[in-house]
Amino acid sequence: MSTLEALLRIEGLCVSYGSIQALKDVSLQVGEGEIVSIVGANGAGKTTLLNTIAGLVRATKGSMTLRGKPVPRASHQVVAAGVALVPEGRRVFGTLTVRENLMLGAYLRNDSDGVQRDLEWVYSVFPRMKERLDQVASTLSGGEQQMLSISRGLMSRPSLLLLDEPSLGLAPVLVQEIFRQIRRINREGVTVLMVEQNANQALRFAHYAYVMQTGRVVMSGTGRELLASPEVQESYLGRRRRSV
Ligand code: ATP
Repeated sequence: MSTLEALLRIEGLCVSYGSIQALKDVSLQVGEGEIVSIVGANGAGKTTLLNTIAGLVRATKGSMTLRGKPVPRASHQVVAAGVALVPEGRRVFGTLTVRENLMLGAYLRNDSDGVQRDLEWVYSVFPRMKERLDQVASTLSGGEQQMLSISRGLMSRPSLLLLDEPSLGLAPVLVQEIFRQIRRINREGVTVLMVEQNANQALRFAHYAYVMQTGRVVMSGTGRELLASPEVQESYLGRRRRSV
Protein backbone atom coordinates (compact mmCIF):
# COMPACT_ATOMS: atom_id res chain seq x y z
CA MET A 1 0.00 0.00 0.00
CA SER A 2 1.16 3.51 -0.75
CA THR A 3 2.56 5.48 2.16
CA LEU A 4 1.55 8.86 0.75
CA GLU A 5 -1.68 10.55 1.76
CA ALA A 6 -4.51 9.22 -0.41
CA LEU A 7 -5.84 11.73 -2.92
CA LEU A 8 -8.30 9.19 -4.31
CA ARG A 9 -9.62 6.26 -2.33
CA ILE A 10 -11.89 3.65 -3.88
CA GLU A 11 -13.49 0.93 -1.82
CA GLY A 12 -15.60 -2.04 -2.86
CA LEU A 13 -16.56 -0.56 -6.23
CA CYS A 14 -18.99 -2.61 -8.34
CA VAL A 15 -20.22 -1.68 -11.81
CA SER A 16 -22.53 -3.65 -14.10
CA TYR A 17 -23.65 -3.22 -17.67
CA GLY A 18 -26.91 -5.17 -17.60
CA SER A 19 -25.93 -8.70 -16.72
CA ILE A 20 -22.19 -8.10 -17.26
CA GLN A 21 -20.39 -7.25 -14.05
CA ALA A 22 -17.47 -5.14 -15.25
CA LEU A 23 -16.06 -4.20 -11.80
CA LYS A 24 -16.23 -6.56 -8.87
CA ASP A 25 -15.39 -5.14 -5.47
CA VAL A 26 -12.49 -2.97 -6.64
CA SER A 27 -10.50 -1.15 -3.97
CA LEU A 28 -7.48 1.04 -4.59
CA GLN A 29 -5.74 4.21 -3.54
CA VAL A 30 -3.89 6.94 -5.37
CA GLY A 31 -1.49 8.90 -3.19
CA GLU A 32 -1.06 12.64 -3.61
CA GLY A 33 1.74 13.27 -6.11
CA GLU A 34 1.95 9.71 -7.38
CA ILE A 35 1.76 8.07 -10.78
CA VAL A 36 -0.41 4.99 -10.33
CA SER A 37 -0.82 2.55 -13.22
CA ILE A 38 -3.50 -0.02 -13.79
CA VAL A 39 -2.55 -2.81 -16.13
CA GLY A 40 -4.55 -5.75 -17.38
CA ALA A 41 -5.73 -7.53 -20.49
CA ASN A 42 -8.63 -6.48 -22.75
CA GLY A 43 -11.94 -6.44 -20.94
CA ALA A 44 -10.39 -6.36 -17.44
CA GLY A 45 -12.48 -3.30 -16.55
CA LYS A 46 -9.80 -0.62 -16.73
CA THR A 47 -11.74 1.86 -18.86
CA THR A 48 -14.87 1.22 -16.82
CA LEU A 49 -12.95 2.16 -13.68
CA LEU A 50 -11.77 5.49 -15.10
CA ASN A 51 -15.20 6.26 -16.56
CA THR A 52 -16.81 5.56 -13.20
CA ILE A 53 -14.44 7.94 -11.39
CA ALA A 54 -15.14 10.56 -14.07
CA GLY A 55 -18.91 10.32 -13.53
CA LEU A 56 -19.66 8.77 -16.93
CA VAL A 57 -20.71 5.37 -15.56
CA ARG A 58 -22.67 4.71 -12.35
CA ALA A 59 -21.43 2.33 -9.68
CA THR A 60 -23.93 -0.08 -8.17
CA LYS A 61 -21.94 -0.39 -4.95
CA GLY A 62 -18.87 0.99 -3.22
CA SER A 63 -17.39 4.37 -2.40
CA MET A 64 -15.00 6.83 -4.03
CA THR A 65 -13.51 9.76 -2.14
CA LEU A 66 -11.25 12.57 -3.23
CA ARG A 67 -9.24 14.04 -0.33
CA GLY A 68 -11.78 12.42 1.98
CA LYS A 69 -14.90 13.86 0.27
CA PRO A 70 -17.24 11.81 -1.92
CA VAL A 71 -16.41 12.09 -5.63
CA PRO A 72 -19.35 14.03 -7.17
CA ARG A 73 -21.71 12.07 -9.41
CA ALA A 74 -22.07 14.42 -12.38
CA SER A 75 -19.12 14.53 -14.76
CA HIS A 76 -18.91 18.36 -14.86
CA GLN A 77 -18.78 18.39 -11.05
CA VAL A 78 -15.99 15.82 -11.15
CA VAL A 79 -14.02 18.19 -13.43
CA ALA A 80 -14.76 21.08 -11.06
CA ALA A 81 -13.47 18.94 -8.17
CA GLY A 82 -10.10 18.70 -9.95
CA VAL A 83 -10.28 15.47 -11.93
CA ALA A 84 -9.70 15.38 -15.71
CA LEU A 85 -10.22 12.32 -17.91
CA VAL A 86 -8.21 11.89 -21.10
CA PRO A 87 -10.27 9.20 -22.80
CA GLU A 88 -9.00 6.31 -24.86
CA GLY A 89 -8.60 6.86 -28.58
CA ARG A 90 -7.37 10.49 -28.66
CA ARG A 91 -10.82 11.98 -28.77
CA VAL A 92 -10.33 15.51 -29.99
CA PHE A 93 -12.92 17.81 -31.55
CA GLY A 94 -11.84 17.21 -35.14
CA THR A 95 -13.48 20.22 -36.77
CA LEU A 96 -12.11 22.65 -34.20
CA THR A 97 -8.61 24.11 -34.11
CA VAL A 98 -5.98 23.17 -31.57
CA ARG A 99 -6.58 26.49 -29.78
CA GLU A 100 -10.35 25.88 -29.63
CA ASN A 101 -9.82 22.35 -28.30
CA LEU A 102 -7.52 23.70 -25.59
CA MET A 103 -9.99 26.40 -24.58
CA LEU A 104 -12.75 23.77 -24.28
CA GLY A 105 -10.59 22.12 -21.62
CA ALA A 106 -10.80 25.33 -19.62
CA TYR A 107 -14.55 25.86 -20.09
CA LEU A 108 -15.36 25.73 -16.38
CA ARG A 109 -12.73 28.30 -15.45
CA ASN A 110 -13.17 32.03 -15.13
CA ASP A 111 -9.60 32.95 -14.13
CA SER A 112 -8.33 34.24 -17.46
CA ASP A 113 -4.82 34.94 -16.08
CA GLY A 114 -4.61 31.35 -14.81
CA VAL A 115 -5.87 30.01 -18.15
CA GLN A 116 -3.18 32.01 -19.98
CA ARG A 117 -0.54 30.69 -17.59
CA ASP A 118 -1.71 27.13 -18.14
CA LEU A 119 -1.67 27.61 -21.93
CA GLU A 120 2.00 28.57 -21.58
CA TRP A 121 2.51 25.51 -19.35
CA VAL A 122 0.92 23.25 -21.99
CA TYR A 123 3.13 24.80 -24.70
CA SER A 124 6.20 24.11 -22.59
CA VAL A 125 5.18 20.46 -22.13
CA PHE A 126 4.09 19.97 -25.76
CA PRO A 127 5.75 22.70 -27.91
CA ARG A 128 4.08 21.13 -30.96
CA MET A 129 0.73 22.45 -29.69
CA LYS A 130 1.94 26.04 -29.89
CA GLU A 131 3.20 25.48 -33.44
CA ARG A 132 -0.19 24.06 -34.49
CA LEU A 133 -2.58 26.42 -32.70
CA ASP A 134 -4.62 27.29 -35.77
CA GLN A 135 -4.57 23.82 -37.33
CA VAL A 136 -7.82 21.85 -37.44
CA ALA A 137 -7.48 18.96 -34.98
CA SER A 138 -8.55 16.24 -37.43
CA THR A 139 -5.48 17.01 -39.58
CA LEU A 140 -3.00 16.43 -36.72
CA SER A 141 -0.99 13.21 -36.68
CA GLY A 142 -2.02 10.47 -34.25
CA GLY A 143 0.73 11.43 -31.80
CA GLU A 144 -0.18 15.11 -32.01
CA GLN A 145 -3.84 14.27 -31.37
CA GLN A 146 -2.81 12.36 -28.23
CA MET A 147 -0.76 15.37 -27.11
CA LEU A 148 -3.78 17.60 -27.72
CA SER A 149 -6.06 15.26 -25.82
CA ILE A 150 -3.72 15.33 -22.80
CA SER A 151 -3.21 19.09 -23.16
CA ARG A 152 -6.96 19.66 -23.15
CA GLY A 153 -7.18 17.66 -19.92
CA LEU A 154 -4.43 19.83 -18.40
CA MET A 155 -6.33 23.01 -19.25
CA SER A 156 -8.81 22.29 -16.45
CA ARG A 157 -5.82 22.46 -14.04
CA PRO A 158 -6.56 19.06 -12.55
CA SER A 159 -5.07 17.74 -9.35
CA LEU A 160 -5.79 14.24 -10.67
CA LEU A 161 -5.31 13.34 -14.33
CA LEU A 162 -6.95 10.10 -15.51
CA LEU A 163 -5.25 8.75 -18.63
CA ASP A 164 -6.87 5.93 -20.58
CA GLU A 165 -4.30 4.10 -22.75
CA PRO A 166 -2.14 7.13 -23.58
CA SER A 167 0.26 5.07 -25.69
CA LEU A 168 -2.33 3.14 -27.72
CA GLY A 169 -1.52 3.04 -31.42
CA LEU A 170 1.55 5.28 -31.20
CA ALA A 171 4.92 4.56 -32.78
CA PRO A 172 7.54 3.42 -30.21
CA VAL A 173 9.46 6.69 -30.36
CA LEU A 174 6.28 8.64 -29.58
CA VAL A 175 5.35 6.24 -26.79
CA GLN A 176 8.63 7.17 -25.08
CA GLU A 177 7.94 10.84 -25.61
CA ILE A 178 4.40 10.67 -24.21
CA PHE A 179 5.55 8.78 -21.10
CA ARG A 180 8.38 11.26 -20.57
CA GLN A 181 5.93 14.14 -20.68
CA ILE A 182 3.53 12.33 -18.34
CA ARG A 183 6.39 12.06 -15.85
CA ARG A 184 7.11 15.76 -16.27
CA ILE A 185 3.43 16.68 -15.75
CA ASN A 186 3.49 14.58 -12.59
CA ARG A 187 6.67 16.28 -11.32
CA GLU A 188 4.95 19.61 -11.79
CA GLY A 189 2.31 18.63 -9.25
CA VAL A 190 -0.37 16.60 -11.06
CA THR A 191 -1.25 13.18 -9.64
CA VAL A 192 -1.75 10.61 -12.40
CA LEU A 193 -3.93 7.50 -12.57
CA MET A 194 -3.15 5.75 -15.84
CA VAL A 195 -4.63 2.70 -17.50
CA GLU A 196 -2.35 0.90 -19.95
CA GLN A 197 -2.01 -2.29 -21.89
CA ASN A 198 1.66 -1.46 -22.41
CA ALA A 199 2.49 -2.98 -19.03
CA ASN A 200 6.22 -2.62 -19.39
CA GLN A 201 6.14 1.16 -19.82
CA ALA A 202 3.25 1.67 -17.41
CA LEU A 203 5.05 -0.18 -14.61
CA ARG A 204 8.40 1.47 -15.30
CA PHE A 205 6.83 4.89 -14.85
CA ALA A 206 4.55 4.07 -11.90
CA HIS A 207 5.18 4.68 -8.24
CA TYR A 208 2.49 2.14 -7.51
CA ALA A 209 0.40 -0.17 -9.69
CA TYR A 210 -2.55 -2.52 -9.73
CA VAL A 211 -3.18 -5.50 -11.97
CA MET A 212 -6.78 -6.07 -12.99
CA GLN A 213 -8.26 -9.26 -14.34
CA THR A 214 -11.92 -9.75 -15.31
CA GLY A 215 -13.18 -6.92 -13.13
CA ARG A 216 -11.03 -7.53 -10.06
CA VAL A 217 -7.76 -6.23 -8.68
CA VAL A 218 -5.61 -9.36 -8.48
CA MET A 219 -2.23 -7.89 -7.57
CA SER A 220 -0.67 -4.61 -6.47
CA GLY A 221 2.73 -3.28 -5.57
CA THR A 222 5.29 -0.70 -6.57
CA GLY A 223 6.00 -0.56 -10.30
CA ARG A 224 9.36 -2.15 -9.63
CA GLU A 225 7.86 -5.01 -7.59
CA LEU A 226 5.35 -5.83 -10.28
CA LEU A 227 7.97 -5.66 -13.04
CA ALA A 228 9.95 -8.25 -11.10
CA SER A 229 6.95 -10.51 -10.47
CA PRO A 230 7.09 -13.78 -12.45
CA GLU A 231 3.27 -13.79 -12.81
CA VAL A 232 3.29 -10.28 -14.27
CA GLN A 233 6.23 -11.10 -16.51
CA GLU A 234 4.49 -14.15 -17.86
CA SER A 235 0.99 -12.73 -18.26
CA TYR A 236 1.59 -9.10 -19.21
CA LEU A 237 5.20 -8.67 -20.32
CA GLY A 238 5.32 -11.62 -22.69
CA ARG A 239 8.25 -13.25 -20.90
CA ARG A 240 8.31 -16.98 -20.36
CA ARG A 241 8.93 -18.26 -16.87
CA ARG A 242 12.23 -20.08 -16.69
CA SER A 243 11.69 -23.79 -16.18
CA VAL A 244 13.36 -25.32 -13.15
P1 ATP B 1 -9.76 -2.68 -23.07
O1 ATP B 1 -8.33 -2.70 -22.68
O2 ATP B 1 -10.10 -3.67 -24.12
O3 ATP B 1 -10.30 -1.31 -23.34
P2 ATP B 1 -10.78 -2.64 -20.38
O4 ATP B 1 -9.94 -3.34 -19.37
O5 ATP B 1 -10.70 -1.19 -20.45
O6 ATP B 1 -10.55 -3.29 -21.78
P3 ATP B 1 -13.64 -2.29 -20.15
O7 ATP B 1 -13.71 -1.55 -21.44
O8 ATP B 1 -13.82 -1.53 -18.91
O9 ATP B 1 -12.26 -3.11 -20.06
O10 ATP B 1 -14.70 -3.50 -20.21
C1 ATP B 1 -14.95 -4.34 -19.10
C2 ATP B 1 -16.09 -5.29 -19.46
O11 ATP B 1 -17.31 -4.57 -19.57
C3 ATP B 1 -15.90 -6.00 -20.80
O12 ATP B 1 -16.39 -7.30 -20.66
C4 ATP B 1 -16.74 -5.19 -21.76
O13 ATP B 1 -17.23 -5.99 -22.80
C5 ATP B 1 -17.87 -4.73 -20.87
N1 ATP B 1 -18.39 -3.42 -21.28
C6 ATP B 1 -17.71 -2.27 -21.36
N2 ATP B 1 -18.51 -1.25 -21.75
C7 ATP B 1 -19.75 -1.78 -21.92
C8 ATP B 1 -21.02 -1.27 -22.31
N3 ATP B 1 -21.17 0.04 -22.58
N4 ATP B 1 -22.06 -2.13 -22.39
C9 ATP B 1 -21.90 -3.44 -22.09
N5 ATP B 1 -20.74 -4.00 -21.71
C10 ATP B 1 -19.67 -3.19 -21.62
